Formats: sequence, structure tokens, C-alpha cells
Amino acid sequence: MNREKRIKILFRLKNNNPNPTTELKYNSHFELLVSTLLSAKSTDISVNKATINLYKIANTPEKMILIGIDGIKKYIKTIGLYNKKAKNIYKTCNILIKKYNSQIPKNKILLKKLPGIGDKTANIILNVIFGLPTIAVDTHIFRVCNRTGFATGKNVTIIEKKLLKIVPKKFKINFHNWFLLHGKYVCKSKKPTCYSCIIKDLCDFNKYYI
Ligand code: SF4
Repeated sequence: MNREKRIKILFRLKNNNPNPTTELKYNSHFELLVSTLLSAKSTDISVNKATINLYKIANTPEKMILIGIDGIKKYIKTIGLYNKKAKNIYKTCNILIKKYNSQIPKNKILLKKLPGIGDKTANIILNVIFGLPTIAVDTHIFRVCNRTGFATGKNVTIIEKKLLKIVPKKFKINFHNWFLLHGKYVCKSKKPTCYSCIIKDLCDFNKYYI
């Protein structure tokens, strides 16, 4: 796909949704960190259902430590991998308190040292909390990029590197949410709704269907 087409796609997605946001519900940077950690291999809906009650009693690292791993588990047991995630939240809270004065570090390398925080989560934190032009690539974004031809590659690391090069700076902040929402609701894994897609005339995949 050439640059002109990419820019057109970005403008279409922007005009359609100028201020895209995550569907995770949170009221603080700490809550966003925990919700993002919990969302790995789980839906945002299931995470929100669990955290609405968890955050009522534990919305800071200190309060999370107070309820302990078993306490965290009670609230998140409907979420996949909850045993591991509860341990990771607990350990991460401990580190935040001891090393960072309960603040979230503004550094990808430091973020990725926190238990349960991978590349994608670190990018989301840097992008949403600190407004840095990072691009987190999840399964939806990986699929949409490859299908459309916007950026192609065998894994998320390759796609992320390509996106950082080809997406103009002014589109980087919202890129993750535009492509994520497009993948979730339009360019779905099994049945993409190409007939009603706002970028169908620009998409490489769709040319086989029109
Ligand atoms: S035209 Fe179809 S394959 Fe292309 S982005 Fe839209 S929904 Fe996805």
C-alpha cells in the first residue's frame, strides 16, 4: 500500500471518530495500568465487570497490597488467567510503592520490568497516560494491518516497527484505538463487514470481494 492510501485511511478513521478512547473503564492512571494488565487475553467487558467492584475497595497500590493476592483473586476470578494476573498485580503494586513512590514510571524499559506488563501494555500506558506517540499492536491491529495492506508482517513486533516509521506523528496518538475499534467492530476476525466498511475502497483485502 502506498503512502497516499494510508493517509486517506487515517483521515477516514479520524473523521469518523476524532477522539477515540479505550473501552476499559478507569478513573486514575493506576486503574488504567491494572485494567490493561487484566485485559491480556480477556475482553474489555469482562475486565470492566470485575474492576467496577475491585476499584471500590482497592484503587491504589497500597490498598491493593492490603487486600492481598487472595483478595484480588476474589474480584477477578471471572477473568481468564486470574491466578497469575492477581499475583502480577500484587507484585507490581509492591514495586510501584517501593521504587516509584506509587507512581507509574514514564519509561518503556522500566514499565516492562513490572510483572505482567508486556510490550503492548507498556505502549498503551505511555500513549494514554503520558501522551507519547507509541503504537501498541494487539491481535485486532495485527489483523487489520495485514488484511488491509496498511503494514504487513509475521508478528506484532514487525508490525509495530513498521507502523512507527510509516504513521505520521499527528496520527500516532490515536492510531491504536482507531485500528483496534475498526478490528473489533468492522474488520472482525471471522466475518469482516466489508460491505459497510468506510475504508473498503482503500483496502487490499476488499479488492477480492468487490
Ligand atoms: S474492507 Fe473488509 S477487510 Fe478491508 S478493512 Fe474493511 S472490513 Fe476489513
